[in-house]
Amino acid sequence: MELEDINTVAVLGAGNMGHGIAEVAAMAGYDVNMRDIKEEFVQNGYEGIEWSLNKLAENDRLTEDEAEAALERVTPLVDMEEAVADADFVIEAVPEQMEIKKDVYAELEASAPDHAVFATNTSSLSITELAEVTERPERFCGMHFFNPPVRMQLVEVISGAETAEETLELTEALAEDFGKSPVRVHKDSPGFIVNRILVPLMNEACWLVSEDQATVAEVDSTTKYDMGLPMGSFELGDQVGNDVSYHVLDYMYEVLGEAYEPAPLLEEKVENEELGKKTGKGFYDYEDGEGVQIPTDEQSEFVKERLLATIANEAAKLIGGDVAPPESIDEAVQLGAGFPDGPVKLVDEYGLAALHETLEDAYEETGHERYAPADYLAERADEGGFYERDEGGEAVDFETIRIEYPGDMVGHVVLDRPHRMNTISDDLLEELSAAIEQLEADDEVRAICLTGEGEKAFSAGADVQSMAGSGADPIEGQELSRQGQAVFGKLEACDLPVVAGIDGFCLGGGMELATCADLRVASERSEFGQPELNLGLIPGWGGTQRLKHIVGEGRAKEIILTADRFDAETMAEYGFVNDVVDNDELEDRALELATDLAGGPPIAQKFTKRAMLAGRDDTESGLEYEASAFGHLMATDDLMEGITAFMGDEEPDFEGK
Ligand code: NAD
Repeated sequence: MELEDINTVAVLGAGNMGHGIAEVAAMAGYDVNMRDIKEEFVQNGYEGIEWSLNKLAENDRLTEDEAEAALERVTPLVDMEEAVADADFVIEAVPEQMEIKKDVYAELEASAPDHAVFATNTSSLSITELAEVTERPERFCGMHFFNPPVRMQLVEVISGAETAEETLELTEALAEDFGKSPVRVHKDSPGFIVNRILVPLMNEACWLVSEDQATVAEVDSTTKYDMGLPMGSFELGDQVGNDVSYHVLDYMYEVLGEAYEPAPLLEEKVENEELGKKTGKGFYDYEDGEGVQIPTDEQSEFVKERLLATIANEAAKLIGGDVAPPESIDEAVQLGAGFPDGPVKLVDEYGLAALHETLEDAYEETGHERYAPADYLAERADEGGFYERDEGGEAVDFETIRIEYPGDMVGHVVLDRPHRMNTISDDLLEELSAAIEQLEADDEVRAICLTGEGEKAFSAGADVQSMAGSGADPIEGQELSRQGQAVFGKLEACDLPVVAGIDGFCLGGGMELATCADLRVASERSEFGQPELNLGLIPGWGGTQRLKHIVGEGRAKEIILTADRFDAETMAEYGFVNDVVDNDELEDRALELATDLAGGPPIAQKFTKRAMLAGRDDTESGLEYEASAFGHLMATDDLMEGITAFMGDEEPDFEGK
């Protein structure tokens, strides 16, 4: 079955998650049958959807018509057969109990069409065991949404032992069509990715307090203001609910053994029904006390090492056990838990060897299995990290671009197809993507400068000839657009500041590329434009979305709809170009600007870029990011350096620490 064949989605359970998933599916244009066991329950779910759609419309995230149309696509039902008889895809979100879920699957199998895929939203149960109740284990997988589904971007797509590759691909395509970011979990392993990192982290925090090694204040001060996580460990625990963390942990304990033994403090909280925010009291007191109080100045290196060591050990088990590669873990935890940096990057940066040693020492001292270092951790500690590194920055052979290192911590990417006006081919997209990764991974590089070879063009756009193979195929066209969007998006989201030096034509795809830089300098003779509409096309590499953030929607429409050429001065007036310089000074000026930025504080620059990007369409999440990054910066050496230099009226020497 292909994505196009999915018309009707059935959602079983209209509770917390079920109604949110139904809403997401309806907003994406699917007919949704939402089923619960009592009229009252489905009705509650339906009203929840209505309320949420109205909110989205109030906040201009949807038009009133779209909200109304989405609601009309949802049919609340109690009868199972009616709910699933014509379903192409079934998402189950009934209570987290094996027996209930097994009964539901037996009933579902009897009424659902043979071709339908079954996906469970379980947070912790075995996908393989659930699939065995059905006659379609190859068309059965996990589809783990996060709470609330309407807001959370992440969907973990989990393979059971017998799940077919096709099923996983289809489920990922559906999640994307829902506007979500799926991350593949290759094995049905307890906690999947996000909970497998967060819950043991939470448990370790509890152990440290249970064993009188640290206080709640020290742990949360360290987690929030030193490690830079969005919340303190206990603050997060209270938010998630101690019963929920306990439940997931207990399942890990059962399946994976002693290392996951719940800490006494956590057990105590659950027994006393101090479940967190929802009961008014957890680790913090929300009713009679002052709620979350985290001091900024009780950070402890000891706590940080133990917590990071726990993350490193869990990551080692996930990566070494082929559950997920480092990139997926980082993406999932960033999206699912709002970490500003991926946990694998975090432990790599801290140093795996040191964390491995922390675990060995703690294991020797306490004999507790949670400190037993995974074999794979020892292996990667020897290699210097989970992520593979380029050996000694060896030059990779690029054909369509080249990278130069002019000194002063600048990586200079030159689009190198002057005979074709530096037009952008498939190969160039791929090489550019690799170059961005290479420069980001290079500790010696702190800023990127991007220019085009020759005097004619920065880049005159897409290389139409090399792409002519796409023919008139709409699917290939979409792919081509997505590929360019993704590569340019990578440049836009790159942690390093990026300066584009523009000399000559900067048209179409070339202008979309320049749009993704942070600053743009242009020579007087440069000419800009988005001529796509002249060809009966539209800008397809992000132009309809990104340009408006720089020049405003009015100017963006003018540029795109007229498809005219604009000179450098005009583009400076429009705010697209930051500086216009003499033709023969362009490259020097661009490099000079990149050098200036390379001397800036790397962590603060990275957080600024990320906060601005995160808040572009969602100011709330941008502000949230800004606050957590601000807190993180309080504990950096760079801040001390910056302040000291400011007081002494000297130039700061930032080290990115
Ligand atoms: P919930 O209790 O809010 O909702 C479950 C709903 O299922 C209830 O309305 C219940 O009446 C209904 N139900 C029970 N038996 C049913 C049946 N036979 N057919 C149809 N509906 C039935 O629970 P929830 O928080 O929405 O969790 C649902 C699932 O999602 C669980 O597997 C949970 O682990 C998972 N999950 C929850 C969260 C979360 O934060 N709450 C996050 C991710 C995943």
